[in-house]
Amino acid sequence: MGPLALTPVSAYLDHAATTPMRPEAIDAMLPFLDVRFANPSGAHRMARDARRAIDDARDVVAEIVGARPGEVVFTSGGTESDNLAVFGAGRAGAPGLTASHGTVVCSAVEHHAVLDPVIALGGRTVGVDAAGRLDLDHLAAVLEAEATRAAAGESAGVRLVSIMAANNEVGTVQPLAEAAEIVRHLAPAAVLHTDAVQAFCWTDVAELTSVADLVSLSAHKFGGPKGVGVLVVRDGVALSPRQIGGGQERGHRSGTQNVPGIVAAGVAARLSADGRSSEVERTTKLRDRLLDGLVASVPGLVETGAVAGPGGPDRSGRVAGTAHVCIEGVESEALLFLLERSEVYASAASSCSSGAMETSHVLEAMAVPAELRGGSLRLSLGWSTTDTEIDHALAVVPPAVERLRAGGL
Ligand code: PLP
Repeated sequence: MGPLALTPVSAYLDHAATTPMRPEAIDAMLPFLDVRFANPSGAHRMARDARRAIDDARDVVAEIVGARPGEVVFTSGGTESDNLAVFGAGRAGAPGLTASHGTVVCSAVEHHAVLDPVIALGGRTVGVDAAGRLDLDHLAAVLEAEATRAAAGESAGVRLVSIMAANNEVGTVQPLAEAAEIVRHLAPAAVLHTDAVQAFCWTDVAELTSVADLVSLSAHKFGGPKGVGVLVVRDGVALSPRQIGGGQERGHRSGTQNVPGIVAAGVAARLSADGRSSEVERTTKLRDRLLDGLVASVPGLVETGAVAGPGGPDRSGRVAGTAHVCIEGVESEALLFLLERSEVYASAASSCSSGAMETSHVLEAMAVPAELRGGSLRLSLGWSTTDTEIDHALAVVPPAVERLRAGGL
């Protein structure tokens, strides 16, 4: 297959998987692949130039997330940031300890980059309601039970709680401030981490994450390149590095930094943050038109985690870019195949490296019935999404569903 270029009748609706790079970010990174190629750890002028470029990007990210520049640690992406947070804080100060010496806790709907490290440390998960929103009573119950175990000498208490800012499958924004209050009250020694990878484009990320000690971001979700992430490590938070060596990033993450990628991430972050309010407004209209159109034209299609409002569905609890539906009597994989044939690019849930379908732990946690879960479809929008793309999706999805129900592929 040759290189893909989207035609005027295509609809790229998979921005939650990755969003196209901002052209300005591409332009900004090119000199650092070329003449400004130096290693930022060096002592000479060219190295200082590269180091300054990283620090400029660090300043931008810090300002946007409400951190000090020294609290911004560049990593290789959201996955590394999440792993560093959970393993780094879950075992901080106690490199030889196992999970039995302290507990890590996360929501049941975390991305696997958080969930799997928490499971690997023998941690606990907290449930969500039908809209995908954290069950705060359950969080309190889990922390209280852990406090009781700690008082009995059975555990060292809770070391880390990780609650994502916005969900990658269904887009639900979590009540982080309320969760933080509970954590500070019932597990005062715990470090609070939030995966804000999917929140960055759509929320005031500084305000939303101000209660957290650790914050993960990923550049390719906001118009930067793949392979660049951020972990905000607030001053005084104990974190064991996962990667040791040259001591870059204040010792939190050794390894020569990805200078071109970091520079581009800084430019993309600035553009995304500066245009956020108008983008949220524009995208909300597109998303609502898409969802309302699909619900009206496809029988048996259910908006996932829908919350009823006075004048129709209340989607204010979800990020603007995500439209998630479940379609009765349809297999996601077959539907995605048909959609792709008509140049609608979407996904069933979170993408994974194999591209294979797996049942969604998020939909399970939201208690979406099994017969609906099999027909899940995530259409996610971003800065480049146009009205024409929404028109195209609205024209393609209903006949594709009809065709599958009639037994055709
Ligand atoms: N966390 C969330 C919520 C995500 O959506 C993703 C990517 O899909 C990641 C973490 C992983 O980020 P990356 O692809 O940069 O490793």
